Amino acid sequence: MSLGGSGRGSGVDPLQRLVDALKRLPGIGGKTAQRLAFFILRQPDDYAHELAAALVDVKARIHECAICCNLTADTTCSFCTDARRTRGEVCVVATVPELQAVEKSGFRGLYHVLHGLLAPLEGIGPSELRVGRLLERVGEGEIKEVIVATSPTVEGETTALYLHKLLSPLGVRVTRIASGVPIGGDLQYADQATLARALEGRRDMGKG
Ligand code: ZN
Repeated sequence: MSLGGSGRGSGVDPLQRLVDALKRLPGIGGKTAQRLAFFILRQPDDYAHELAAALVDVKARIHECAICCNLTADTTCSFCTDARRTRGEVCVVATVPELQAVEKSGFRGLYHVLHGLLAPLEGIGPSELRVGRLLERVGEGEIKEVIVATSPTVEGETTALYLHKLLSPLGVRVTRIASGVPIGGDLQYADQATLARALEGRRDMGKG
């Protein structure tokens, strides 16, 4: 019966192992983790295999787009390769879910994903964000306007001001989405109409 230390979690109850792994997911407490574990256990074997394969596959194949740092399984993402999009406009967002929120609002330019916001107190500085790649893109000359669509939080505003300071000497127009999005609200949860208005009402952050 004993697995004899074969590296398959011997000594740990398999069900508890699954519950513990699920509990590490954001927003999942002990009770929910247990409910999910029992659900998985009740499903046909195919489901567990598909779930496990999907988890391994996503880690192995998803990486950052070489141009905009969005997540993709290809070298460049579908937004960057889509010739129908307005290539002179780049919308800067903090996260991929926020990119998806802006896309749903009807924006049809290009994107740049920072993968975070400046938070000096938490030790998150410019080198933790994908700022260098953005500067390179602007330096290539095709981009005419950078729309900073970070949330109107302290971190979002700090990041917007920082980007404006870096980008405006490069001769590009730097705009900031209007404050139609609730203060302190997360861009991801803003409804499409509000976000569309915030994009439409964007203002220049200063002389470009
Ligand atoms: Zn891309």
